[in-house]
Parts: sequence; C-alpha cells; structure tokens
Amino acid sequence: MSRIVYVNGRFLPYAEAAIPIMDRGFLFADGIYEVSAVLNGRLVDNAAHLARLDRSLREIGITNPFDQEGWTALEEGLVARNSLKEGLVYMQVTRGVHERDFPFPPAGTPPTVVMFTQEKSVAANPLAERGAKVISVEDLRWKRRDIKSVALLAQVLAKQQAAAAGANEAWMHEDGFVTEGGSSTAFIITEDGRIVTRPLSTAILPGITRQAVIRLAAEAGLTIEERPFSLDEALRAAEAFFTSASALVMPVVEIDGQRVGGGQPGPHTRRLRGLYLEMATA
Ligand code: PMP
Repeated sequence: MSRIVYVNGRFLPYAEAAIPIMDRGFLFADGIYEVSAVLNGRLVDNAAHLARLDRSLREIGITNPFDQEGWTALEEGLVARNSLKEGLVYMQVTRGVHERDFPFPPAGTPPTVVMFTQEKSVAANPLAERGAKVISVEDLRWKRRDIKSVALLAQVLAKQQAAAAGANEAWMHEDGFVTEGGSSTAFIITEDGRIVTRPLSTAILPGITRQAVIRLAAEAGLTIEERPFSLDEALRAAEAFFTSASALVMPVVEIDGQRVGGGQPGPHTRRLRGLYLEMATA
C-alpha cells in the first residue's frame, strides 16, 4: 500500500505530494513542527503534543489552523490510511507561501500544513534492551552565524519587528555589542572618519559586500577598524550604514527612533556607495 501523507487539506500518495519552492519553511525555516508517537494504532499523549504545537505557533505569530479535535481527526485519518500500528505522526506548519521577503506575508496568507507518518519500533525497540550510548557536543543552537544557513526564523522575527516599527532593518546585539543586521553587515563611522565593523568570527556572516567595502575603503585611504561596537557607540556615531548583496551600501539615519549622524545619509557612506556602484558596474 502506498504511503499517504496530508498536504493542505488533502490526503495524497507521497509521490504526488508537493509544496511550492516559495514555502517559507523551505526558505527561512519559518515554521514549527510537532510529533506524536503511535502505539497499537493509537496516539500517545497527543493532547500535550497538540498543546505544545499551539504554543509554538502562537510564539511565532502563526494562527493555528485547527483546534485539538481538528488536529486529532487528521492524525487519526493518517494513521488509518497508512494502517500504522507503531511509529510516529509528524505535523509541520509553516508561515505559508509568498514571494521571498523576511517580514511576514500579508495577513490571510494560509499556513502550509504537512503531515506524515513514519513506521518505527517505538515500544519494540531493541536498543531499550542494550541501552544507548551518547557523545557530548557543544550546544551550537545557533551560534554558527558564519554559515549562511536557512535557519532564519530569528531573523524573520527580527525583521518583522522592524517592519512593524516602520524600520527597514534590525540590528541584532549580544552582550551589548551589535552583531549584524537581520540580513546585512553593520558598520559605523567615527567622528574622525574611521570605519568600524565587527571582525569576522562565528558571530556573523562573512558578508561578501562587507569584504568589498573594506577593500574599497582602504583603496580610498580610509581607516578600517575591525572591532565590535556597542549600540550606544552606534547612536553617537558620525555615520552608520549596512551592506548586503541587495542593499549594497545603505545609509542608516535612525536607530530605535533616535537620529544617527544628523538623520541624513553621511558623506563617507555616500562615497562608499558610489565607489561600490562604480566597481559593480565597471
Ligand atoms: N549578514 C547576514 C545575516 C545576512 O543575511 C547577509 C545577507 N546575505 C549579510 C550579512 C550580508 O552578506 P552579503 O554582503 O554577502 O550579502
């Protein structure tokens, strides 16, 4: 019997199930999931799993598409259609499908719901007789920002918060120091014209535009200081800007409602944007 899965209102053979490539789960890990065990064809502790699913959805601002009864009926429908006696039922919910952009899609964009079962020896598990071995690893969730991972949920939430506040970017900070923008590299320029940006480490993505801007600035005789800077220093800076492949060199005129650099794009930033455009269009 072919494996039956559930996608957005329909039970389908696995091979026919598909979701669009613009699904935010795929692009941003912008979603949540839940999994319940099935023993003797019956869901185990399912109400608690559905309560956690509801909480996870609420925490990231996705409206729960079903109530407990609705979810349970779908799970039971899937278990029956797959004649599942022992295993797992997965429930995946994403913020749906929309043209790629960090902030939430328009209200009313339906979440994507995917459910599938997996046959697995849960009770009849031989490992429970032998006992499991573990290794220790550093908890990296998610401290490897140097990797351009699709695990972008934190940035989605940050940039949605920015959009809701009428801002264009969110500058993230840690231990009082700016790490980077939600999807850009953060820079400030001091009163005496030094360009400051955080040094490369696992705390930030090594921006390709950052690298080019540092090179262009050096060629133009400007001084670069690769060191962390605080939000407070950014607020007092002569200029601020951020860089990315899509924003190029973008002047910052306001942080948390406070004007930066007199509230106008500054001369060094304008010059760097010009140099970048010259290089890019040469
Ligand atoms: N930091 C983060 C977190 C980003 O998502 C981006 C955009 N890709 C950048 C920095 C800037 O990188 P790049 O200049 O390579 O676009």
